[in-house]
Amino acid sequence: MAIYVYRCDTHGATERSLPIGTAQRTTECTTCGATAFRVYTAPRLSLGDATRRALIDRTERSADQPDVVSSPGPRPTRRAPVAANPALRRLPRP
Ligand SMILES: [Zn+2]
Repeated sequence: MAIYVYRCDTHGATERSLPIGTAQRTTECTTCGATAFRVYTAPRLSLGDATRRALIDRTERSADQPDVVSSPGPRPTRRAPVAANPALRRLPRP
């Protein structure tokens, strides 16, 4: 389904939710029944919630505009913390 926008001369914009590709050039205004003409708009797509969109935008922006730092970050610790699971403690360590 897609949302299509139509405009009535008297009542302004009205929206219709229709299957993609089935939008007609005109429709009836929901208020007065007069002919409303289709208005072509940018596609109304959603990529989920705002947090996810912000994360995607930040990730894409880091490819062209990476954060500038004055020094490398802290060194990682030499040893990873020992797993709490006793069975994993017996595994060989690097
Ligand atoms: Zn109208």
